[in-house]
Amino acid sequence: MIIDTHAHLNMEDYDLDIDYVLGKALKQEVSKVIVIGMEDVSNRVAIKLAEEHDMLYATVGIHPGYVDDDQDVERLKDYLNHSKVVAIGECGLDFYWRDDNKILQKDVFQKQIELAMEYQKPLVIHTRNSFQEAYDMVLPYKGQITGVFHCFSSDLDDAKKAVELGFMIGIDGPITFKNNETLKKIVEQIDLKHILVETDSPYLTPAPYRGKRNEPGNTRYVVEKIAEIKRMDIHDVASITTDNARRLFHIKED
Ligand SMILES: [Zn+2]
Repeated sequence: MIIDTHAHLNMEDYDLDIDYVLGKALKQEVSKVIVIGMEDVSNRVAIKLAEEHDMLYATVGIHPGYVDDDQDVERLKDYLNHSKVVAIGECGLDFYWRDDNKILQKDVFQKQIELAMEYQKPLVIHTRNSFQEAYDMVLPYKGQITGVFHCFSSDLDDAKKAVELGFMIGIDGPITFKNNETLKKIVEQIDLKHILVETDSPYLTPAPYRGKRNEPGNTRYVVEKIAEIKRMDIHDVASITTDNARRLFHIKED
């Protein structure tokens, strides 16, 4: 079985056919999905979905793209004791879309790092053109908090730093794209025990379905590609990355 550790099934893209999407995932042996919140509304929808569907779990956080929208980090505390809320995020820094509000982005990320300490929940971290800055902010808490650098988009040296920090590397659809030598090198070199598989649905649809809405079932293609790169059996890749996800997010065996 496979766990899609990062999907935005709380977006309206899935309003009409969530049951169909989950059914398709099960057929691909993707039997659990972590639904990722990004601000207050999507956080609440993620929890609601997790309450309605056994196979779904939720995270709550404030994504760096939403820090200006009057988002209150304190409110996350209302959700963090919920039995199906498994992590804080996604949070982090994104200097690709905006670099004019770096101080605010860092302030909101710092508060979520402190929540991770207080509640002992893993962090789901988003970085774009900002790995070093995010790394520097987490470093003082090394050994005390953990999490994943989701949709890893930096280089091998940074991947090694993330692992050294005790964090996981999240691998998504782009591993199936052509001309992705950096990411392939990371998958080749980093031990599988530090890798999580994810889709980032509805974004980042893997080959051969690029251009279509992404779905958790497509995690299977990420697993297959990792198996090919590491010259491993697909079932071993599925079972090791699933163990990683269970360990990080404290998801029990069925
Ligand atoms: Zn995401």
